[in-house]
Amino acid sequence: MRAPRITPVARISLGLTSLVLMLLLIVDFVGLVPDHLRMAREVRHRSSQAVAIQTAALLPSGDPLPLARAYEDFRAGDPDVLSLAFRLSDGQIFVAVGEHARHWHPLHEERSLLDHVQVPIFAGRQPWGQVEIAFQPIVPTTFLGWLRYPTVVLMLVLTFFAYIGFYLYMRRALQYLDPTTAVPERVRQAFDTLTDGIAIVDRDRRLMLTNKTFNALHPAAALNLIGRPINEQRWLCECLGTDVETLPWERAMRENCTQSGVICDLQQPAGDALKLIVQASPIVDPKGLVRGCLVSVDNVTQVHRINEELRQTLVELEASREQIRQQNIELHQLASRDPLTGCLNRRAFFEVLEGLFLTSRKQGKNLCCIMCDIDHFKRFNDRYGHAVGDEVIRALVRTLQAVLRQHDLLCRYGGEEFCIILPETTLAQAAEIAARLRSEVELHAGTSVRTTEGLQITSSFGLAALAADMHDPAELIDRADSALYQSKEGGRNRVTIWQA
Ligand code: GH3
Ligand code: MG
Ligand code: MG
Repeated sequence: MRAPRITPVARISLGLTSLVLMLLLIVDFVGLVPDHLRMAREVRHRSSQAVAIQTAALLPSGDPLPLARAYEDFRAGDPDVLSLAFRLSDGQIFVAVGEHARHWHPLHEERSLLDHVQVPIFAGRQPWGQVEIAFQPIVPTTFLGWLRYPTVVLMLVLTFFAYIGFYLYMRRALQYLDPTTAVPERVRQAFDTLTDGIAIVDRDRRLMLTNKTFNALHPAAALNLIGRPINEQRWLCECLGTDVETLPWERAMRENCTQSGVICDLQQPAGDALKLIVQASPIVDPKGLVRGCLVSVDNVTQVHRINEELRQTLVELEASREQIRQQNIELHQLASRDPLTGCLNRRAFFEVLEGLFLTSRKQGKNLCCIMCDIDHFKRFNDRYGHAVGDEVIRALVRTLQAVLRQHDLLCRYGGEEFCIILPETTLAQAAEIAARLRSEVELHAGTSVRTTEGLQITSSFGLAALAADMHDPAELIDRADSALYQSKEGGRNRVTIWQA
């Protein structure tokens, strides 16, 4: 078990009380305090004289009774008297009151003491006898007696009240002492050069030191805070949370562990809030006991603002990158697609076809081409106008796309003429596809034109397959085109497979 610690205030008070007691003892020693013993001796001497005079007056009658009565009266009037007697010169007791035999001890050399007083009475020149008075002992003989002894009582009372008085006074006075005076000027200047706000609090959470940066954090911090509890600094505590127990310095001192990275927004009476990072480190003595806490406050408002701006710039950059990506897609769309139908234009189509043609030929893969042309298209234009003509073209494309596969190519080859490339497709498969295309156009293309009812759209198809003797994709297209020509010749709305 650890011995109870005596606080510095208690120690100072004890020292001051000892000093006062020492001064009192010196004063007593020098004799400035009235001597209790001398006063008692004088009083007893005077009362003994009075008893002796009275005895001398009553003795000649030879009657012991009046003397005994006078002695009784005397003893009753002075509680200090234990017993008294008149002893004749032959040693016989003439008159005695109180238990004189018990209280009276014969004196050496016949000299009176403080508590044993004897006064001789003479008859002419002959000694008659002596008056013997036994008083209460003045110097105590028991512990309780000492406790009641006036000097001891004075010392005890004075010690007690002096200690209480000094303790209360010192405790109050120390609060008003400026702790910064205890910190050397050089140390304070060093603290003032730090860019971090620094505050040191003692065990009772009272501010012992704050540096210039800390004082500049808030108008309320510019006042003299030394000696005031940090928990009463509402400007600081409120931005760190409403619960006192969770304040960083409270946790640091309670858990004896540094609390770092506590971020808060310190509202300013005029202007924007400051972004702060607060750290609290416990200050421990050599025995490991927490004696206080060092609170450091890092003002990261500027860095935070720059970070925010940077983040905003990044967001905007990301947005504009996305915009550029979209625009690139649109540009690519514009460059490679036909605006009316969204089909590949001839330039993009031939780019892809070149590669397809070469790899198919090299790897011996099948490749087929279908040419398609709307029958009597001119009539739609003539009868319903150009806009409906456009709708007819779009309707045809929708129908073709519904049948074609993902990797098939569909190109708007001319006004109402389309070229389809079917990779890795045999001639038989391509013929089946062409047949389906034709029937789908015939059955559904006309009804899919919503603006005009009762349209009947048909289309003619020419089909050709990649042959070993071909050197150019144009040759494949030419064959499909001539097959298409034969479909037209043959009466339209049909599929013709190229034959040599
Ligand atoms: P055939 O059955 O022999 O193919 O007869 P056709 O009338 O379809 O063929 P022709 O070549 O005589 O007519 C094609 C017309 O298509 C000529 C042109 O005015 C029209 N045309 C070309 N491009 C467009 C276009 O983008 N929109 C519209 N509405 N008409 C177009
Ligand atoms: Mg046509
Ligand atoms: Mg045509």
